[in-house]
Amino acid sequence: MNLRLSVGTAMYLGLTTGGAMEAPTTAYLMIPGGVCRGGCTFCPQARGDSRWLSRVTWPEFHTRDIIEPLKDSDLQRICLQVSDVPDYEESVVRAVSVLWETGKPISVSAPPLSDDTLEKLDGMIDRIGIGIDGATDDIRANVKKNYDPLVFWEYLGRAAKLLGPHRVTAHFIVGMGESLPQLTLGVYRAVNAGANVSLFSYMSKEHIPDIRYYRQAQMASHLLSNGRTPTEIIEVLMEHPEELGEMIADGEMFRTRGCPGCNRPYYTTRPGEEHRNFPRPLTRVELDKIIEDLSIV
Ligand code: SF4
Repeated sequence: MNLRLSVGTAMYLGLTTGGAMEAPTTAYLMIPGGVCRGGCTFCPQARGDSRWLSRVTWPEFHTRDIIEPLKDSDLQRICLQVSDVPDYEESVVRAVSVLWETGKPISVSAPPLSDDTLEKLDGMIDRIGIGIDGATDDIRANVKKNYDPLVFWEYLGRAAKLLGPHRVTAHFIVGMGESLPQLTLGVYRAVNAGANVSLFSYMSKEHIPDIRYYRQAQMASHLLSNGRTPTEIIEVLMEHPEELGEMIADGEMFRTRGCPGCNRPYYTTRPGEEHRNFPRPLTRVELDKIIEDLSIV
């Protein structure tokens, strides 16, 4: 069968050439398909262009050409994505059965999967990625047009119960009109359900969220994952930003978060731009810029 690889993954595996980029630590793969039925307003898959996802191109390869390079690589994980195309559940099971040969931990990011499919995948995959995306039900209803806005929470609860709480990662898109307290409550709900949380920055030609707001969202997500409550977090972020200096000294909370080993370079920034999610440890200059953006100097 054929699979698409993110251009960064294909370059890292020596399957294509290109300019110098930050190296991925996970292999990003996608099942090719037609027009996604989800109708999400932020995603090119809804317009039927499976060469594009999250601002990067995805060249197509036969699996026989990618298994050995994957096996021989030092990539820490495989992330397999599929959009809402006919028979996507069967396609995921088929692709995972092949990728399993690489011996790498596999994450599957897909539209809701049935219990039957989750049970088939259980012994072969490490984690499931779930696109909650909109922090509130209203935003989700607006941007994920063809889904019931509650279906992704139902899926998250079901997957966490079936696979175990530490095998689910919830994706949120920051900057689609939610407030910081609304985002914090959404992330809190996912953390309480046993999920790791992974943030993406909304990006369109018309709108990119303010960098200070994105950094606050990263801090809130990190603190929630470390047991702080939404009320404590909003109070620190809004009223006592001076307390944040020590917390951010190592810059860890601004790195890509989610499944272990996932760094997603260029999913939310172009080469040469300031990273929203840093795919590697931050430099002193990068950290100083964040401290300045957060006005805590
Ligand atoms: S956190 Fe990374 S590896 Fe995990 S599902 Fe999301 S994109 Fe894939």
